[in-house]
Amino acid sequence: MEWEIKRGANGCLLCNKEFSEGEEYYSALFDENKAFARKDFCPACWHKGKEGREFSFWKTKVPKKDKPAQTMINIEVLLDLFIKLEGNNENHQKNLRYVLALYLIRKKVFKLKSLKRQDGEEVIVLSHPREDREFNVLNPRLKEEEIQSITTEMSQLLNYSHLDHEVQNIAN
Ligand SMILES: [Zn+2]
Repeated sequence: MEWEIKRGANGCLLCNKEFSEGEEYYSALFDENKAFARKDFCPACWHKGKEGREFSFWKTKVPKKDKPAQTMINIEVLLDLFIKLEGNNENHQKNLRYVLALYLIRKKVFKLKSLKRQDGEEVIVLSHPREDREFNVLNPRLKEEEIQSITTEMSQLLNYSHLDHEVQNIAN
């Protein structure tokens, strides 16, 4: 499982236009042979080339130079990703879903409701009070280093530099 971020470091994948400070653009995740790739597009190319093949997308903005990079993490983006990963059997994507769950618990989007055993594995039951929904998440029993490395990959993929310090494991 590899993660790939297409660049134009900070530019549109299609027209190579560089994004300037404060400019809005679209980031999309594509599931390419079980690896996520993030691609960035200027609004014009995004609307023109939209094929609906993306796994998830969001609108974002180039941070101002005098501000710390993206302190605001878009919870909806993470939630969307979490929901779309449901039922995915690829290991790395299951791990990613677990790490997303940890983050969303920490952000109080989800509540940890209970733990249960299912086919010999531990499953975390989460409630999502806002939507009155429940989710089951397989606990892949990751080591701290694995959680750290997935979180780092995720923050690069999503361009959220502050994510790293905000994910904590659930005690096994
Ligand atoms: Zn473009």
